[in-house]
Amino acid sequence: MYFTYERPDFDISDPKEIRRVIEEAYCNGRESARAGTVADYIPELKKASAEDFGLCVCAPDGTVIALGETEKRFSIQSISKVINLAASLKYLGFRETFSHVMMEPSGDPFNSILKLDAASELPFNPMINAGAIQVMGTLSNIMDFDDLLGFAKAFCMDDDIVLNEAVYRSESETGDRNRAIVYLLKSKGVLRGDAEKTLDLYFRMCSLNVSARTLANMGLLIANAGRNPFTGKHVLHPGYVRTIRSLMYTCGLYDESGEYGVLVGIPSKSGVGGGITASVSGRWGIGTYGPALDAKGNSAGGIAALQHMSHLLRLNVFD
Ligand code: GLU
Repeated sequence: MYFTYERPDFDISDPKEIRRVIEEAYCNGRESARAGTVADYIPELKKASAEDFGLCVCAPDGTVIALGETEKRFSIQSISKVINLAASLKYLGFRETFSHVMMEPSGDPFNSILKLDAASELPFNPMINAGAIQVMGTLSNIMDFDDLLGFAKAFCMDDDIVLNEAVYRSESETGDRNRAIVYLLKSKGVLRGDAEKTLDLYFRMCSLNVSARTLANMGLLIANAGRNPFTGKHVLHPGYVRTIRSLMYTCGLYDESGEYGVLVGIPSKSGVGGGITASVSGRWGIGTYGPALDAKGNSAGGIAALQHMSHLLRLNVFD
């Protein structure tokens, strides 16, 4: 990743300048997508077009800047981990949620099983597969797929989210690592739900069809402390939102979370379907779609666009 501390001097509160930077970020993202490759370990994901790229920015006053493929639907994949965690916090509470999953970055790839067996009884955090499956185990006792889908729609402010059946089937047929994880959790005696039911719900949530616009909306709800700015409805308590943002910051981009935290510094979550949701507190939700991934499984174009915006508009949480 290219980085410099130098930043050009311009008025970062001028809407025209903001729009210019967002357009540049979009071009940068589209260009950078060329360096990535589409995920192929879930057969259905291979069908995505590597050159697709979309960037969507949503503000609480209803302003939307949408560039490129922002309405195209794709599977949410790991970004559903944020929704699962939000549901767990809302319906089971902080203490119950974190009594069976930790809050530590793992530094390992998203689907790693190593530390789960060697270093700890509990999964490291809810943003990696082991942790998300564990969260789902407990949730599966109180929510079914329709409940979770309804919550996802409210959390993403998008009533058009549906299950992508083809991706779901593809995941269930080929998800042997996730099957290994759920049975390892069961064998350790820490899984709180039925293994097959847990896995099925986990796969279904990974297979929700969203767009960059949906992901911008999700980021906006989080940026707005859990309140839907258009209806005024409180979807999630602000304290739970703070917890989620912290975990997105420290663990949201797999084993690239540290570098992303330094170079972009916006609480975000990525998925191997090519999406990233990012949340600029009190200000914006940002959603990107670029299925060409870097070596760590994160959208190459999405990271480039977000870094561009963060650097020039000073969006790093420590700016
Ligand atoms: N469904 C994917 C899996 O569990 C999600 C991975 C991801 O987006 O990181 O393998």
